[in-house]
Amino acid sequence: MLIVPEREIANLMTRAAAFDAVEQVFAAMAAGDAYNFPVVREAIGHEDALYGFKGGFDRAGLTLGLKAGGYWPNNLEKRNLINHQSTVFLFDPDTGRARAMVGGNLLTALRTAAASSVSIKHLARKDARVIGMVGAGHQATFQLRAALEQRDFDKVIGWNYHPEMLPNIEKIAREAGVPFQAVDLPGMVEADVIISITSAFSPSLMADHVAPGCHLACMGTDTKGKQEVEAALLARATVFTDEVAQSVSIGEAQHAVAEGLIAESDVHQLGAVINGTHAGRVSDDQITLFDGTGVGLQDLAVAAAVVDLAVAQGIAIEVDF
Ligand code: NAD
Repeated sequence: MLIVPEREIANLMTRAAAFDAVEQVFAAMAAGDAYNFPVVREAIGHEDALYGFKGGFDRAGLTLGLKAGGYWPNNLEKRNLINHQSTVFLFDPDTGRARAMVGGNLLTALRTAAASSVSIKHLARKDARVIGMVGAGHQATFQLRAALEQRDFDKVIGWNYHPEMLPNIEKIAREAGVPFQAVDLPGMVEADVIISITSAFSPSLMADHVAPGCHLACMGTDTKGKQEVEAALLARATVFTDEVAQSVSIGEAQHAVAEGLIAESDVHQLGAVINGTHAGRVSDDQITLFDGTGVGLQDLAVAAAVVDLAVAQGIAIEVDF
């Protein structure tokens, strides 16, 4: 069995490799070649932790496995560890033997950022110039860094519930040489692309904060009850997702579907756009919205890519198992 420790991931994995792995697995999902297993997520009654498993099998990429981990809210304060902790386990689909154990923390951020980037590549207007960020926490920095590579953006605007966190994303914009401006939520109407990545349980971004032609990647809602944008916005938009079943149950679309504003059949797989079986954006004033719920196959795809890189560079640790 191979081990790729968390400490090695930053030197091995690139944004480009994560992007390719996620784009390919979204395509495989839409083609019916890859599927996710039902998600297990439990409040374990210890350290207020939420722990679970996300797994799947990609017959096209021959990737089988799971990500185990979750959220330990006291980690940072008590132990100076990040609150999200996860590990990916890959298995040989021919034999069922354990193939690799891979640190999943940085990979989670990279695969989540890759998902919104894939959506921007396929759904945002080609002439998008202003990107808006709703959220400025840990994931937001990864999201913005990756998104800036997808279009020729010349301005970043940002809003955050805790304004003192805005310098986190301002720093990323500055590093990319793009000016940053803090705005109020109605100011988001200037954006051609908006990424929301917050842990909110009630909507911040309202339907009238979004201009025609905008592409939104709603990335924070991955649990029942969470919500970042007004449900009416989904009724104004053409809605895409990584996986429809997750979108309507734990994703941003859960609210619009529950309120009867859209039906499950109104939510389309982003992979279908990648495969060319869905037209995606068809006009410049259409609002497109990607509901990125986060699927296990994304984790497996980036972990498999990092194992290949670690083997090629002689960094993977081999153990008898
Ligand atoms: P974080 O704790 O670092 O940041 C949280 C962000 O949410 C901050 O910007 C904070 O100001 C904002 N926020 C908190 N309460 C809010 C409220 N009531 N209204 C509006 N904004 C509020 O968290 P993070 O690691 O950046 O994760 C952000 C979200 O992304 C979480 O909900 C997490 O579960 C989710 N996530 C999704 C995926 C996916 O694949 N879709 C992957 C990883 C994380």
